Amino acid sequence: MVDEPTQQEAIRAAAEAVADRLEDEKEYLTELDSAIGDADHGSNLARGFRAAADAVADDEESTPEELVKKIGVTLISKVGGASGPLYGGSIMSASQTFEEGVTAESSVAFAEAYLDKVKDRGDAQLGAKTMVDALTPAVHTFKKSIEVDELPPLTAFAKATAAAERGVEYTVPIRAQKGRASYLGWRSVGHQDPGATSTWFIMQELLEVADDYLEGETDVDARSPTIPEETPDEVEEEA
Ligand code: ADP
Ligand code: MG
Repeated sequence: MVDEPTQQEAIRAAAEAVADRLEDEKEYLTELDSAIGDADHGSNLARGFRAAADAVADDEESTPEELVKKIGVTLISKVGGASGPLYGGSIMSASQTFEEGVTAESSVAFAEAYLDKVKDRGDAQLGAKTMVDALTPAVHTFKKSIEVDELPPLTAFAKATAAAERGVEYTVPIRAQKGRASYLGWRSVGHQDPGATSTWFIMQELLEVADDYLEGETDVDARSPTIPEETPDEVEEEA
């Protein structure tokens, strides 16, 4: 795992990468939200994550925990709608798990705490057609890959990101039971959930940045839905 100043640098780089990606995806996310919501998800998130990236960009003083908390706090104040408190509040509260820095173990703890908070705040279970549907398989896959399969963190996160994509696909045929989309009832069927989609995009960017900072661990393509077939462990066994 990388040392402390590098962790802070990675967190700032991640905030920047996520802000850039959401800026790129603004129209697409808004299009998804216009089908089953009020067409503001793309602009909400692009604005919020840009402000969050700016808030930490020149901060050389804060610990990893403080930086992540700052990102959450900024999101709460800049992202409107349902997703502001869900993203911002959950990041803010889960930031405590990074008290001792960012490791594979604390990242699993962060992911679990984040999912718990989102479910708590939004009162949404799996299958309600929300961001929870992308997050749940992602967090479970990440935790199992680290704790049971003992995969390297980057491989574990690549698998988690692929699981998030499956979760996004799963939102399409189901009926919304939470948030604005639920007002449509059965008419929400057939549409992809914007919040699940933005969750997956964010994970892709985190994976890219993790790949830059955990160099040489394994070669992953964050944009590709395929899970790396060979883990470094398997490669070693073959050699
Ligand atoms: P709003 O719906 O207030 O306009 P956004 O458009 O920014 O907010 O975000 C919509 C997304 O928020 C949805 O696609 C869904 O993933 C997520 N969401 C909405 N309500 C909930 C909830 N109760 N629990 C979890 N996620 C939710
Ligand atoms: Mg909306």
